[in-house]
Amino acid sequence: MLKIYNTLTKNKDVFTSLNKDAATMYCCGPTVYNYAHIGNLRTYIFEDLLVRTLSADMPVKHVMNVTDVGHLTSDADSGEDKMELGAAREGKSAWDIAKFYEGKFFEDFDSLNCKRPTVTARATEHIKEMIALVKKLEEKGYTYKTSDGIYYDTSKFPAYHNLVGRAHIDGLKTGARVDFNDEKRNASDFALWKFSPKDKQRQMQWNSPWGVGFPGWHIECSAMAMKYLGDTLDIHCGGIDHVAIHHTNEIAQAEGATGKKYVRYWVHGEFLIMTSGKMSKSSGGFVTVQTLKEKGYSPLDYRYLCLGAHYRTQLEFSYEALTFARNTRLGLMERIAALKAETDGKIKEEAALNAAKTAFKDAMDDDLNTSKALAVLWDFIKSRAAAADKLDFLKYADGFLGLSLLEEEVQKPLPKEAEEFLAARKEARAKKDFKTSDELRDKLSALGIIVKDTPKGQEWRWK
Ligand code: AMP
Ligand code: ZN
Repeated sequence: MLKIYNTLTKNKDVFTSLNKDAATMYCCGPTVYNYAHIGNLRTYIFEDLLVRTLSADMPVKHVMNVTDVGHLTSDADSGEDKMELGAAREGKSAWDIAKFYEGKFFEDFDSLNCKRPTVTARATEHIKEMIALVKKLEEKGYTYKTSDGIYYDTSKFPAYHNLVGRAHIDGLKTGARVDFNDEKRNASDFALWKFSPKDKQRQMQWNSPWGVGFPGWHIECSAMAMKYLGDTLDIHCGGIDHVAIHHTNEIAQAEGATGKKYVRYWVHGEFLIMTSGKMSKSSGGFVTVQTLKEKGYSPLDYRYLCLGAHYRTQLEFSYEALTFARNTRLGLMERIAALKAETDGKIKEEAALNAAKTAFKDAMDDDLNTSKALAVLWDFIKSRAAAADKLDFLKYADGFLGLSLLEEEVQKPLPKEAEEFLAARKEARAKKDFKTSDELRDKLSALGIIVKDTPKGQEWRWK
């Protein structure tokens, strides 16, 4: 039975679903104005591990949004809309930007073996639901109007501090985190609906009972989560940065409107950090799945790296750690290839096999303790168990880990640089330039690649 750390109770809680037939889970999705970085993707990997672990016990209805409008450059309702900013940067329409980066996001998501959500919901296709939710809040007296939009009055919602704890919110009152806006009644108040500026033509805007404009960022998640999963959800996930503002505001919106508990288990993943600090475009530390591929890594090497750290601890990214993860994963794949060659397909010791599966699941059920689960896996793979037993165990474990252990052939891709060296070496040998050819052999060797000259031409293998 799954125990999961709940940000709301600050406790590892035993998970039970509200409905017998399925657990309900909502995950905050990408803001599609640029490529996702591997930090964002760490969060989706952890959410995928949770979906897979829960799915071992019951069906899971998993909803994820795609933020294609309304997320401003500051979480505090100021700055520009990220979509319109992306459009200006690339000389495309905001709609094209959203479509393009949503496609890129799902390419990365799939390459990391994250299971597609049951429902993927775009903000721009749920404006009607958002307006209805704001109307409901207005009817109940939670809103007020300023010159730039309709705001939520957080002082009207006494439970506003619950998720994060009062100390933090009191800190907000001094204006530490949120830009101060003269017309706001409280520093923590936030926009539900923003009016389109008079002096600038927005690309994405809609009519509403309050005038032409666009939704505040937080309203989309409450509206779409409740549309697809009901007023009370079992689980809501996201990165740790969302606790103080985005999720706190989601609760205020949903519970203000329905008077019911919005989420039973709030689950948050810690950040991936770069040695240089926060992952951001300006610091040059913006690493994408494409960056990793260009350097010769598989997206699954990154997934393996993430599995080594608990989702509630920060993970510091380095290429050394990624190389280590790659070598470990490839070592595992090689062992699996040998097991496949050796197996007679007959399970030998069912009791020992079941005990290993139970130990593995217990680790995953203990707040997704992936490093412990991997230790159980390696112990069993290194044990004297029969090949068929080990393969059966791996199939079971991979249902949780999502590493394509049994589907993939061992294939360590050649880095781009090495491909270029090999091509240059082939050319040098054709010209009988053996000095250059030997230099290139040394360069390849430094990358871990051995080249051999055979009657058929040069052949290479990993050291
Ligand atoms: P965004 O596309 O900016 O809305 O973020 C998508 C998800 O990535 C959210 O759940 C964020 O909390 C999460 N996130 C952002 N930065 C990081 C990071 N460095 N490490 C892990 N998760 C992150
Ligand atoms: Zn959200």
